[in-house]
Amino acid sequence: MPFRNSSFPVTRTWILIPVFFFCLILLGPGRSMAEETAVVTGNAINVRTGPSLDFTVLTIVNQGDRLPVLDKFYNWYYVNLPSGANGWVSGGMVRIEQTMPPGLSADDGLTVMINADGVNIRCGPGTTYDIVARASYGQRYPVMETSGDWYKVWLGTGTGWVANWLVARNKNTPAASPQVSPPPSSSQPAGQSGGKFAVVTGSQVNIRNGPGTANALAGNVNKGDELPVLGQNGEWYQVKLPSGKTGWVAGWLVALKTTTPAAEQVPPASSVGSAGPQAGGSDVSRGGEERIPDVQSGKALTLQVKEINGETRVDVVADLSFECDAFTLSGPDRLVVDLKGVAKGELPAKTDVNSKTVKQIRVGQYQREPDITRLVFDLSGGAQYLTSQSEDKKSLTVETYIPTISGSYAGTTIAIDAGHGSPDPGAMGKNGTKEKDVTLDIAKRTKKLLEAKGARVIMVRSGDAEVGLEERAERANRAGADLFVSIHVNAHTDPSIGGTMTYIYNGNGNSTDTTRIKESDKLARYVQAELLKNLGLRDGGIRSANFVVLRCAKMPAILAELAFISNAAEERLIKTDNFRNKSAEAIVNGIGYYISGKKR
Ligand SMILES: [Zn+2]
Repeated sequence: MPFRNSSFPVTRTWILIPVFFFCLILLGPGRSMAEETAVVTGNAINVRTGPSLDFTVLTIVNQGDRLPVLDKFYNWYYVNLPSGANGWVSGGMVRIEQTMPPGLSADDGLTVMINADGVNIRCGPGTTYDIVARASYGQRYPVMETSGDWYKVWLGTGTGWVANWLVARNKNTPAASPQVSPPPSSSQPAGQSGGKFAVVTGSQVNIRNGPGTANALAGNVNKGDELPVLGQNGEWYQVKLPSGKTGWVAGWLVALKTTTPAAEQVPPASSVGSAGPQAGGSDVSRGGEERIPDVQSGKALTLQVKEINGETRVDVVADLSFECDAFTLSGPDRLVVDLKGVAKGELPAKTDVNSKTVKQIRVGQYQREPDITRLVFDLSGGAQYLTSQSEDKKSLTVETYIPTISGSYAGTTIAIDAGHGSPDPGAMGKNGTKEKDVTLDIAKRTKKLLEAKGARVIMVRSGDAEVGLEERAERANRAGADLFVSIHVNAHTDPSIGGTMTYIYNGNGNSTDTTRIKESDKLARYVQAELLKNLGLRDGGIRSANFVVLRCAKMPAILAELAFISNAAEERLIKTDNFRNKSAEAIVNGIGYYISGKKR
């Protein structure tokens, strides 16, 4: 059934044509988002090519050096060096200073954290203003001023505006003692901010009788609760509780969501509720087809969801041809499909699927002029995907499935690279565990399992010996291996960091290797999913880097960092037979899924 009322006069559609205000000062999204400076506190500290001790040392920097921060990964900072090159320094060796140009001041230490992926930063307080930059989940910006539902933030190289329903806010300098607050009677009248919801972001948040921590407790609410906002006093919101009573909640423990205007981005899974303007009642039904005209551009985009033999298949059809780009995000598992050249139209913001492979599909207008519509599939059960486009490029099929290992490993040659080797011990645990011994042991267990399944295995090293990095890849190349798997364990200066991650080659700006990288990514996804399932450690995701072994191998190649030897609990695990067997099993199963997928 079409969503648009057929009696709606076409001649009135001009009302919906958006008006854009163009920025006088354009801040390209490609510009550095530096907002912090790393001041070197240690003496002659190492700058590395990546954010862990496993990366090679690029150069050293000296005490007092001030390095603009370009990016952050856990406790590592990606900095711009005096030479102009960039590299990674450990957070333990630097002090981070907020940088802001003279004449600008932050609004009382308030900062906001972006709480969705790909949030637009605009040059004015409204969705009609031009996009000047795009921010990703977790980025923090100092707030300079507010206007309605929008924050003006300092981006490091300029300013921009972000919608308050796409950020969480917090104070840099929380008051040491409870603030004395005026009585609730002086607050904004109830109902004035109608259409606003406070989404609880803390795990258990107190509700008080008045706006301030000095007021008596009136109950508590849980993470994800959405409370209609009745009024505001300073940083506190008066909200309606699920019980029907009213109370006050601190602004820094909630994220504000507004029903009008609608969220301009793909809404985060946790905050999509019945309050959304497009979430209620209009979801595409399973197996049904809805054809939805896009009143803004006269183009139609439809989604059709089908379930066939446990596979969920989604057909996306448009009136015009479009390009598509698909990639995955982990923690939680998501498949992102960008449709370039087609507008979202009136597709619902969320479609519940609840199949074995897909929980729901979220849809958002990611960009305008040119249009990009973003579909986010919330995956379950370790689902994998395949995409195919029709020849006229007007339709796209996304198949999701739970992989099964079919057939044998026979005929496949796999190179197993045990990381490091004397005299290079690799990373060392506090209890003396050496990475080179762990990797060789797991490599041997992996070889045994693979051979039992009929695969041919090339051991890059079979003893405790030094093999050069290029030579490692060359051994696989000479043997005509089909796949290359390098086994490592990770280390970090912060002993609390742990988890499993799998690396692929980052291409190093070289586009001739894209097919191999795509295949490497597929293999990495299978292996990473199996490792997470078997080891149960934190998901560090699939990462890309310019590692020599990954670059020089001529076949799909991955480097698995199974766990952190620098984390005491994980070092204890690493020493066990169980961990080593589970790791080997996971690598073998991941390879099996990859081979089966190739045969599909
Ligand atoms: Zn290593």
